[in-house]
Amino acid sequence: MAREYSLNPAASQRPKLDHRAMLNEQQYAAVTAPAGQALVIAGAGSGKTRTLTHRVAWLLENGIAPERILLLTFTNKAAREMLERVESLVAVDVRRLWGGTFHSVGNRLLRLHGAALGLRQSFGILDREDQKDLLDAVLSDAESSVGSFRLPKAEVMGEIFSLASNTRLSTEEILTSRYPYFLEALEDIEAMRQRYEQKKRQTQSVDFDDLLALPLRLFEEHPQVLETLRSQFEFVLVDEFQDCCALQVEWLRHLVGPRGNLMVVGDDAQSIYSWRGAEVEHILNFGDLWPQARVFKIEINYRSVPEVLALANASIACNKGQVPKELRADRGAAGALPALVALDDGRAQAAFVAQRLGELHEDEGKAWSDMAVLYRAHFHSMELQMELTARGIPFEITSGLRFFEQAHVKDVAAFMKFAVNEHDEVSFLRMVRLVPGIGPGSATKLWTAWRKVDHPPQAGHPGTFSQWLLPMSVPKKAREGWQQLAYTLDELVIEGKAIAPTAMIRSVVEGVYEDYARSKFKNADQRQQDLDQLAAFAQRYEDCPEFLAQLSLLSGVDTGSSPEEGSRDVVTLSSAHQAKGLEWPVVFAISLAEGLFPHHRVLEDEASLEEERRLFYVTLTRARDELYLCHPLLNPQSRTGDVILRPSRFIQEVSQDLLEKWNIRPAW
Ligand code: ATP
Ligand code: MG
Repeated sequence: MAREYSLNPAASQRPKLDHRAMLNEQQYAAVTAPAGQALVIAGAGSGKTRTLTHRVAWLLENGIAPERILLLTFTNKAAREMLERVESLVAVDVRRLWGGTFHSVGNRLLRLHGAALGLRQSFGILDREDQKDLLDAVLSDAESSVGSFRLPKAEVMGEIFSLASNTRLSTEEILTSRYPYFLEALEDIEAMRQRYEQKKRQTQSVDFDDLLALPLRLFEEHPQVLETLRSQFEFVLVDEFQDCCALQVEWLRHLVGPRGNLMVVGDDAQSIYSWRGAEVEHILNFGDLWPQARVFKIEINYRSVPEVLALANASIACNKGQVPKELRADRGAAGALPALVALDDGRAQAAFVAQRLGELHEDEGKAWSDMAVLYRAHFHSMELQMELTARGIPFEITSGLRFFEQAHVKDVAAFMKFAVNEHDEVSFLRMVRLVPGIGPGSATKLWTAWRKVDHPPQAGHPGTFSQWLLPMSVPKKAREGWQQLAYTLDELVIEGKAIAPTAMIRSVVEGVYEDYARSKFKNADQRQQDLDQLAAFAQRYEDCPEFLAQLSLLSGVDTGSSPEEGSRDVVTLSSAHQAKGLEWPVVFAISLAEGLFPHHRVLEDEASLEEERRLFYVTLTRARDELYLCHPLLNPQSRTGDVILRPSRFIQEVSQDLLEKWNIRPAW
């Protein structure tokens, strides 16, 4: 006896979405727009991201295969959230869709097609610190031949190259507009750039900017690759378009072509990345690139109560260079104005925020994760971090040094990077310098010796690392550590094949790093726990280069967070830049004093000040229900001797009727 039983796909059980009921007219028109190009230009909180999410869902419902959709967002987190939302809307495996930051998509494209540019699939990614190390090496090589006193330091050099790459301008143009005092060193700087490029090629590594620039080269120089990609990505969607740099716009121009399907959403009033080469003009000139594009405008804000929105509107109206628009609030009045809170100093500010967070949680039942504290610069949060820790309020930080950028994580990663890429000089040097007794000098000599090895085990040759490394000459007191390092490497690559990333991390920690951490760090236990967490995170990956790429991308400028981030009930502490696109019921903006926000660097320059005001606008528009504006009156630690702080001009220039002043007095 047998019984026929068929499994129905989940899709057939889920009704199609009622997009019309969930969207307003303009949003609906955009979501269901016919093929072609579309620009959704609208203010903060007007549902741009929601529109994109529904567009993806709508495409999937209409039978577009997920692989044919490319969704570009500003952070990996944003991409993940959007895909989760789509997944809850339609029954399609959204993991098949191409979604992520430009950088992460660039990485995937280069792994697939980089061979055309001479890149091996296992190429490494230099994060900003690795980049600086490599530039330092280039600079010190060159020191003898160049009058190095005139040259910018590695970090500044990196910034110059990065800007040139992102804006597609020449080094000379960048120097003229931003670093005129280095113009006389132009020739030397150009020469450095060439050496740096060479060095990257030799070491089979790319930096963050290459993740954007090299795919573009691929599109430009390899028409057959572009052809394949164009027909693969039938629909391209982009969030936060106002912060795209020239390179990213070129990507779109190539991938989409003059008649492809492209939808971008953005808000010129929230453009805050010109210091990294973004140009708000791209959004204003969209019609020049795609003359047939449809334009959708949304003038209703769904996020914030009218009191918050009135303040945000008043603030952005102070900018001269903007497309005038007045956002209307969809929500009803909250009955309370945004609070303006003057506090004695940073400590009092921290105490106020912590106490208020506690009250909102205990008395008003707000979840910790409903609340965020935003600031201009990471160090503004230090006192608050201490206060929250003292009071036992849980929080996470999305600014400043992140999990993946910490020394111990990078040390362990150096072993792994070298184990899969024998050309990786930066990782080799970092790794061997961990051996007690080996300094920068011996490390360089060892690298020279390694480069003579003609069939290294990583490249698929039989044999072991120790066979090559042990005969090399090392200082006497380094001998034991050197052996340990060589044998540890042996465990990582077996018969020319890298073992799984988790196993690698365990081997490195047990073989070398545990001892090192104990001798080097006061908080070795904490670091040990971090590495355990890293090993657990790595379990998702079987392939080492893929894991390492993720690691670099997570530490990158455009991304947030530690592995488990997102789902915990904690208060968010974030820089205003990192808060882009996000929202919370309660927002505290702190350190709103002249010189802090606006930052003292921008006070002189009108254009930078306008960008700073847009950043303030972004900060205000993150709040749904409640907004607190805090400013300390004194800065006892001031290095310039200017102890008295004035409230930010961004507070003073708007009508004070939009704010409610809170007078704070000590309990005693
Ligand atoms: P930002 O400029 O900050 O990126 P945005 O324009 O992308 O904002 P969303 O984040 O998409 O705006 O939406 C803001 C809030 O308003 C979200 O909570 C969203 O769910 C809600 N929202 C958007 N459109 C509607 C609508 N038509 N009906 C109800 N709620 C909406
Ligand atoms: Mg958005």
